[in-house]
Amino acid sequence: PVTDQAFVTLATNDVYCHGALVLGQSLRNYRTSRRLAILITPQVSRAMRAALRTIFDSVVDVKEIDSNDLMHLTLLKRLELGVTFTKLHCWTLTQYSKCVFMDADTLVLCNVDELFEREEFSAAPDPGWPDCFNSGVFVFQPSLKTFKHLLQFANEHGSFDGGDQGLLNSFFSSWATKDINKHLPFIYNLSSSTVYTYAPAFQHFGKDTKVIHFLGPAKPWNYKYNPQTRTVTQNDSTPVSENQLPFLELWWIIYRSSILPLLE
Ligand code: UDP
Ligand code: MN
Repeated sequence: PVTDQAFVTLATNDVYCHGALVLGQSLRNYRTSRRLAILITPQVSRAMRAALRTIFDSVVDVKEIDSNDLMHLTLLKRLELGVTFTKLHCWTLTQYSKCVFMDADTLVLCNVDELFEREEFSAAPDPGWPDCFNSGVFVFQPSLKTFKHLLQFANEHGSFDGGDQGLLNSFFSSWATKDINKHLPFIYNLSSSTVYTYAPAFQHFGKDTKVIHFLGPAKPWNYKYNPQTRTVTQNDSTPVSENQLPFLELWWIIYRSSILPLLE
């Protein structure tokens, strides 16, 4: 095992912990040789902390940071994302020389340890605006100096979307043009919403997906799952996109078999 590198995620409440646990389990299933770390805030319950400790090597308490930027978060239609500034704490994990951050709503479909061959700051394009990276999966190097600069930058400039992604894109602004090695292939952060917008590309490349990202307001844990038929449905019974369905089912299979038993 490589003890000075880690996959890192974040959960500021018990709801997102469900996602983090499934992500952690998926990394374990594919036998990552790296450490697993999670940043949590005081709202996370004791029971959930105990479950987290069974999957993550390191459960790190941090203070919540909120952008408090109602105007931009309203434009984004995601008022809950101000707290994603808490993600910045990942730069304080200086016990590691390099890390890969992954949102709690991501899931790995194979071993992705090769991501550690990349340098800070590597990320995949955002499907909504491809000259921006999506901050759901990125390679970074912990550093208290960078952390301090990020906080200063946040205070001076805020974030154009009110969340961490706007801030990080402005801070690492050379990403779009400077070094193509810092562009992760899209299959390392395939957002399930893209599935609708370019169906032939998904049909052609989708089978190579390595990391699925359940980006957007509907998270896997918001769906209904029938364990008998192993099917996922929407709570209001509108149909789930056919391309998204296998990924949602996979999430639920891991959740039912490996995570629920930890929480009982
Ligand atoms: N997050 C959290 N608590 C929240 C909202 C977000 O811990 O209330 C963390 C979690 O790791 C999540 C990430 O911040 O995956 C980014 O938020 P989200 O995935 O909801 O944003 P999206 O990918 O849909 O833009
Ligand atoms: Mn996400």
